[in-house]
Amino acid sequence: MAGKPHSNSSFTTVSTNTENSATPTTSIKTRYTSIFHYFLHLLLPPACQLCGEALPTDSSAPALCHACSSGCIQEAPASCPLCAEPYAAPMVAVHKCTQCVQHPPAFTWLKTIGIHADDLQLAVHELKYAGRFHLAHPLAQLLLQRLHREISNYAPQTIIPVPLHPKRLRERGYNQSLLVAQQLGSALKIDISSDYLLRIRATRSQTDLTRKERQQNLHGAFTLHGAITPQRILLVDDVVTTTATCRECATILVSAGHEVAVVALGRARLHS
Ligand SMILES: [Zn+2]
Ligand SMILES: [Zn+2]
Repeated sequence: MAGKPHSNSSFTTVSTNTENSATPTTSIKTRYTSIFHYFLHLLLPPACQLCGEALPTDSSAPALCHACSSGCIQEAPASCPLCAEPYAAPMVAVHKCTQCVQHPPAFTWLKTIGIHADDLQLAVHELKYAGRFHLAHPLAQLLLQRLHREISNYAPQTIIPVPLHPKRLRERGYNQSLLVAQQLGSALKIDISSDYLLRIRATRSQTDLTRKERQQNLHGAFTLHGAITPQRILLVDDVVTTTATCRECATILVSAGHEVAVVALGRARLHS
């Protein structure tokens, strides 16, 4: 299932299903890693990856403090059950948003940690634009805590990050969605494919575009490279605003026989 490294990517397809082969080499490596971490903790006590607040000394993995974790989880009073479009007020009965009713997406569902605001917005911004790669781990953990039930029920077989165009990848140096996908794949023991769904057309930034302009902007931007057996795919994005990107990716993947569910870090509101 795992594919070849993307020729234009700094990262490669990652198989996470081969971690159980304990060997003397890995055990020595683990011991040295522990000793390394012991001295590292003495010199650099664990701290919140977002605000720098001191964490308990037994913290072994990059993490967020309680305040930052809580600050990352902001829910709308209600949301679309299909695409998580946030509603301003609680709803009497569960109902889909206008867009999902008029133009049903190809994906089965889309879920996020919460509203793209405050601490979550800051964390995603730092991950995406400030090169703070280590934030991918606590954000992926937060996503798994929030969406454990949905992801377990869906039982994805492959994780695919929303790809960047090679030009954008060269400019930024990394794909933040791939970093999160790698963390999810490692935690869930699911393979990641980063060379199947490709972005073949450089598109202008979506930030200042309306919903309709975003759809037009993305038309024909993605393609599939090679073939894999139809399966349940978990598509990973960073921030979802109009769902235009996820819709475009899901349409292409579903047309090849796959099922697609989407997870993203934040759900933004479109201000236009
Ligand atoms: Zn913090
Ligand atoms: Zn919707």
